[in-house]
Amino acid sequence: MELGNMIFGNSRGEHPVDRAWQDDFCQFLYDCGLDGRGYYDKEDQYQTSRGGFENDVFLVNPYDWDADCTCGFDDMNYEWWEENQHTDGCFSNRIKKYENELKQKGIEWLSKKYITLVDNWAKVNGWEHGWNGCAFHCDCGVHKRYDEWAKNKGHKDNCRLIQPNFWYKPTGFRLNFYKYPLRDAYMNQNITFEELKKIIEHCKESILGNKTL
Ligand SMILES: [Zn+2]
Ligand SMILES: [Zn+2]
Ligand SMILES: [Zn+2]
Repeated sequence: MELGNMIFGNSRGEHPVDRAWQDDFCQFLYDCGLDGRGYYDKEDQYQTSRGGFENDVFLVNPYDWDADCTCGFDDMNYEWWEENQHTDGCFSNRIKKYENELKQKGIEWLSKKYITLVDNWAKVNGWEHGWNGCAFHCDCGVHKRYDEWAKNKGHKDNCRLIQPNFWYKPTGFRLNFYKYPLRDAYMNQNITFEELKKIIEHCKESILGNKTL
């Protein structure tokens, strides 16, 4: 995942999309009368509130630059972490303390020496993988409780943060990209290129059947 998308973006999904599909996908957008970013500029019944296109078969929306959680899950999440903190004895707090000591001793952050020391410390203190993943390790149970709490939660279907950039209604196939079509893109179903082409064909037919371009 691109760093910009990871921190600021909202392109997420279970399966990464091959960037090689980009040309065909963009051609599909042009064929449907949209531009290369997914905007549909005719103010008719098919234009979505975000400037994309939607009919009975599919939806295309351009990247949502201002997407925020509108369903309350992000706030709930934040509150949960306010109320549930790691214990002092948790690995995650002990390693923070150790790293602060290193900094105070003047050992340069992320230097070779620093990484070696943290790697050893982590292994001796209960994280077999050492440096790798040590920043996310917790042994006080908070992470477990969080997973339990979060298991059946998540953003609501209508939350602005998780709206698809492409949605094929007959199968529920959804695809999201970062800023531009198929950049750092993800999909909810692991389909092949051949299957995508079939979907695209059906979408185009749905337009030609309903109206003339
Ligand atoms: Zn949300
Ligand atoms: Zn392990
Ligand atoms: Zn913990």
